[in-house]
Amino acid sequence: MTEPDLLDPPVSALRPTPHEHAWTTDSIHRVVAGWVLYVRCGCGARRVDTRAAPDAPPVAASRTVPARWAPSTT
Ligand SMILES: [Zn+2]
Repeated sequence: MTEPDLLDPPVSALRPTPHEHAWTTDSIHRVVAGWVLYVRCGCGARRVDTRAAPDAPPVAASRTVPARWAPSTT
């Protein structure tokens, strides 16, 4: 029996597990048509949402940008 090679994991081990993103708001900005929200998931994915009214549900205004394409915050 061979031991798994921990120093060379398969590519599949490096990909995030598919999941339903749990968005949190990074920032919110008032615009003429309502609000624009910049949201981020714990996995690092980002998206831009819009909201027409304070109590309206947010609507995706952009595609989800995977974490590997998101700009670094450091
Ligand atoms: Zn996510």
